[in-house]
Amino acid sequence: MTLLRVVDVHKKYGKTEVLRGVSFEVSQGQIVVIMGPSGAGKSTLLRTINYLVPPDSGEIFFKDEKINNDLNLLRRVRSRIGFVFQHFNLFSHMTAIENVMLGLVKVKKLSRDEAYQVAMNALEIVGLTEKVNSYPSQLSGGQKQRVAIARALAMKPDLILFDEPTSALDPTLVGEVHQVMKKLALNGHTMIVVTHEVSFAKSVASRILYMEDGIIIEDSDPDSFFSQPVSQSARNFIASVYS
Ligand code: ADP
Repeated sequence: MTLLRVVDVHKKYGKTEVLRGVSFEVSQGQIVVIMGPSGAGKSTLLRTINYLVPPDSGEIFFKDEKINNDLNLLRRVRSRIGFVFQHFNLFSHMTAIENVMLGLVKVKKLSRDEAYQVAMNALEIVGLTEKVNSYPSQLSGGQKQRVAIARALAMKPDLILFDEPTSALDPTLVGEVHQVMKKLALNGHTMIVVTHEVSFAKSVASRILYMEDGIIIEDSDPDSFFSQPVSQSARNFIASVYS
């Protein structure tokens, strides 16, 4: 089943065309990894999907429903699409479990007791039951990112978007976050992940989309992408991430 359809999306910042006609589809259960050089438009593309950045033109269909600026529609769609940011975006004055409970209480309108149970389950999946009462300042970067993943997961989303989830982490902490993401993939979650991490892409991705200058120039399975990239740009990119 097609979960997401992005059709000819364009976005400009001032005179700079950041997205120049991007189209792709994501089926339920797929793990789509988006790669490409810095400035290619990857993060902007991810943000257009749930209208954090509304596109200038083009169409986005989520479960066959066309997304637009209607606030009720956006609230509903955003509650079905999780977003995991590079810099975690946790509330520093709230404990791990309070961060995870927030959307459940405010958006899903669960009681605090119900929200607590759902949040505990999500924190268990990411392996943080011992840290539920810790504040973000008491957690490592990897643990913070796992709380952020639990926060997304707790909402039982149909799709989770990850924007460079490990690029702000000390290299020793990347593995624990990737392990959690692999677990989600094995559990059947549909994910779109912007990352430079080749080992993750090779072992988890169903497809790689390679972007350059605001368009997707390759869309292939990871084996073909890494062994036989078509474009010179992708060849250079792969050489740079391997070095
Ligand atoms: P990537 O994620 O591939 O590194 P981005 O989507 O972050 O690329 O950025 C693409 C281009 O858009 C860059 O040139 C960046 O400077 C520009 N850009 C991104 N966000 C904004 C913004 N809010 N305002 C102006 N320019 C932006």
